[in-house]
Amino acid sequence: LKEMNARHVWHPMAHPGDMRAHPPTIITEARGVRITDIDGHEVVDGVGGLWCVNLGFSCEPVKQAIAAQLDRLPYYSAFRGTTNDVVIELSTVLADFFAPDGLSRAFFTSGGSDSVETALRLARQYHKIRGEAGRVKFLSLKKGYHGTHFAAASVNGNPLFRNAYEPLLPGCFHIPAPYTYRNPFNEEDPERLAQLCLAALEAEIEFQGANTIAAMIVEPVLGAGGVIVPHESFMPGVREITARHGILLIADEVITGFGRTGDWTGSRHWGVQPDMATTAKAITNAYFPFGAVMLSEAVAEVFERDETGAALIGHGYTYSCHPVGAAAALASIAEMQRLEVHRNAAARGRQLYEGFQRLKERHEIIGDVRGGHGMMTAMELVSDRASKTPIAPEVIARVHEATYRAGAMVRMSGANLICSPPLIMTEDEAQVILDALDKGLAAA
Ligand code: PMP
Repeated sequence: LKEMNARHVWHPMAHPGDMRAHPPTIITEARGVRITDIDGHEVVDGVGGLWCVNLGFSCEPVKQAIAAQLDRLPYYSAFRGTTNDVVIELSTVLADFFAPDGLSRAFFTSGGSDSVETALRLARQYHKIRGEAGRVKFLSLKKGYHGTHFAAASVNGNPLFRNAYEPLLPGCFHIPAPYTYRNPFNEEDPERLAQLCLAALEAEIEFQGANTIAAMIVEPVLGAGGVIVPHESFMPGVREITARHGILLIADEVITGFGRTGDWTGSRHWGVQPDMATTAKAITNAYFPFGAVMLSEAVAEVFERDETGAALIGHGYTYSCHPVGAAAALASIAEMQRLEVHRNAAARGRQLYEGFQRLKERHEIIGDVRGGHGMMTAMELVSDRASKTPIAPEVIARVHEATYRAGAMVRMSGANLICSPPLIMTEDEAQVILDALDKGLAAA
C-alpha cells in the first residue's frame, strides 16, 4: 500500500513529489476517540478526523441512520421538480437549531468549500436582485481559511492557498486578523488589537466604497490559521460595521458550528447574528460528505419575493439535498443535542488550553498558546521566544511524529500544532494527548 500510494495517489494539501520522502500514516481503523494505523499502532485522536468527528468514530445512531437510508432511498435528484422527505425534515431541524442565530432557510451542499462558494454566490445575487449589481467585492481576514474552490481560495487569507492559482476572483480584500502574537500593529492587547482591526476594516470599506462590497466572510474563531480567538468586542464590531454599510456578514461555521467552541455555534458564542452561515464537517460528523448554507429570514425573503425569475436558478450541485447526507445530519444533530456535546467541549477545551499553558512553562520551543473556547487549541512553535523566530518545519514534523509515537495524533498547520479532538472525549483521554505532547516536545 505504501508503495502504491507513492506511485498513484496525490494527497490534498501535499507535495506529490514528497510522498516517498514523507509517506503519510495509513489509518485503517477508528473506534471511539482512538485511531489505529496499518502497523497496528493505536493512538488517541486529537484532531477529530479534521475538526469534524465531534461524536467520535463509533456513533451507532449515525451509522444506523445511514444504513437505513441507503436501504430506503440512497439518492434522488433535488433539481427542479423533485426532492426527498429527509432533507425537508432536516431543514426544519436546522431552522430550530439555528433559530438563536436568526437563520431559518437552508441550501444544501456536499462540504465546506461548496458551502462557501454557495454563500459568496448568494451574496452577489442578493444585491443584484435588490438592484445593487455593483456590490461584487468580498472582504475576509488575513489568517482566515475558507476552502479550496476558486471563490473560497480568493477569500482565503494565507497566500499559500492563493498564489499558485492566480489570477483568482477579482475584488477580494483581506483585513488584518485579531492575532495578538503577530500583527502589523505590534499590539499584544486583545481589546486594543480588535479595535485596530475594526478600524482597518472601516478604512478598507471607505477606500473600496461600501456600495461595491457584497459580503464579508469571517470564522467566529479562526481555525486552520492557528486557532485565533478574537477579543469579545471583535465579532460584534464586525457585525455593526457590515450592517451599517449594507454588507452581508457570512459566518464561516464549518469548524465552529455544532458545539466545537463550547456553544452550539461560534456566532452565538459572540452574541452575533450573521446574515448567512456556512456549515459542513460535524453536521454529519464526517460520516457522509455534506453541508448547508443557512440564511436569515430577511436575506431569504429577497430571493423568495424576487419577481425577475433569476433567483438561484443556475446554482446547485448533483448532491445538494442528498438523502443519505440528510439522514446522517439528522441523526448527528439529534445525538449531539442529546449528549449536549458543547458542554463537554467547553470543559475539555479548558483542560487542554490550561494543559498547553503548562507545557509552555516546560518547553522553550512553545512561543504562544491559543484557545480556551471549546475544543480548538493551538501552540505556535518558535526557535527563539524573544525574537519569535518561526521554527523550522522539520522540527514541527519531528514533534508531530514523536507525539504520535507517544500516543496522540495532533495536527500540524504552518508553525502550529493544533488539537481539535472529538467533543465526547473524557478527561483521561484529553490527558493522554497532553502527556504525549509533553513527551513529543521533549524528544524533538
Ligand atoms: N471553511 C472553514 C472554516 C474550514 O476550516 C474549511 C476546511 N477545513 C472549509 C471552509 C472548507 O471545507 P471543505 O474542506 O469541506 O471543503
